[in-house]
Amino acid sequence: MTTLSSIHSPAQSTQELSVQEVSVSYGNTTIVKDINFTLKMGEIGCFLGPSGCGKSTLLRAIAGFENLSQGRIVLDSEMLSTSNAVVAPEKRCMGMVFQDIALFPHLTVRENIEFGIRSWSKKQKQERVSYLLGLVNLTGFENRYPDSLSGGQQQRIALIRAIAPKPKLLLMDEPFSGLDAKLREELVPDVRNILLHENIRAILVTHDQMEAFAMADHIAILNQGQVHQSASAYMIYHNPATRFVAEFIGYGDFLPAKVCDEFKVKSDLGTVGSEKKHGFNVGDEVDLLIRPDDVLHDDDSEFVGLIVSRWFRGSHFLYRVKLQSGKIIYCFASSHHDHSVGQTIGLRVNLDHLVLFEKKE
Ligand code: ADP
Repeated sequence: MTTLSSIHSPAQSTQELSVQEVSVSYGNTTIVKDINFTLKMGEIGCFLGPSGCGKSTLLRAIAGFENLSQGRIVLDSEMLSTSNAVVAPEKRCMGMVFQDIALFPHLTVRENIEFGIRSWSKKQKQERVSYLLGLVNLTGFENRYPDSLSGGQQQRIALIRAIAPKPKLLLMDEPFSGLDAKLREELVPDVRNILLHENIRAILVTHDQMEAFAMADHIAILNQGQVHQSASAYMIYHNPATRFVAEFIGYGDFLPAKVCDEFKVKSDLGTVGSEKKHGFNVGDEVDLLIRPDDVLHDDDSEFVGLIVSRWFRGSHFLYRVKLQSGKIIYCFASSHHDHSVGQTIGLRVNLDHLVLFEKKE
């Protein structure tokens, strides 16, 4: 492998990150395989998947810390990695933020932020530090040391340290996982707004779908080193491309169903369909994805379910209900519909499109 400051490439002029057919292996083990991913100017992307699926490996390959066994990585028309040459990480104009915040403990907040812009003039550095501290509501913290800051404040400083040099791409590897849930909920949208305001493209690696949904325009769902779906959060939730995505994202159950015609299927909760053809053949046995919000509590319905467990979520109840067939599914109900375990309630399916998978053997 050759490490270079640039690779000559005849790539077309485009303003995007393009990960093309990328594979990374450790020894004989392929960790990520045939990955394609595109991130346009002004977009925030995310690699989301269970622990060990290869998210960090892919991020490190984009940063230039992993060699490719196959494929190419191109940023704004510049070839950064091929299977036989890589541009050195420090030549890629990328910023990084990690879970382990890693601020320099012996440097003040100002010195930490200035670290990546050491070559700028004193006046430029001062202006940039003041501006960035204002952006994260930490004006006046210039002379503090990292150990006098809370976890959330430290992560804000780590973020502005990474974006101070105006990187072409910011890479964030589980940056919020060390923070408590409440702080995360506040910080994630704040960081998104800052990145959009600064027009900085970024990729977030996380195993937390709510974090991904709150941060990213474009999410790639990975499992066992492969991308299962690359789309918006809305598409991933409502139109999961694979059974894995359907199970990994949100709550849901698969209800056995039989195809009646090209638009409808018959299930334990009656005949359901949409205006779009589902692509299966009449008579096929399929699994119908049912999310909790697809099942309404309706006492006038002919279909009933026995409540086997329940969670009060403030604005609503989440019930597990057992159908007459014995299948157990989720059901959302308004928080005014307070039913007990053991009670039977009427259920109606309210779907605007079908998500069907081949029946699992
Ligand atoms: P994720 O970020 O999704 O949790 P990683 O990319 O860190 O996953 O790891 C993916 C797989 O690669 C894991 O099985 C991990 O054990 C393996 N792995 C990571 N780094 C190395 C390494 N340096 N050498 C060998 N295997 C590694």
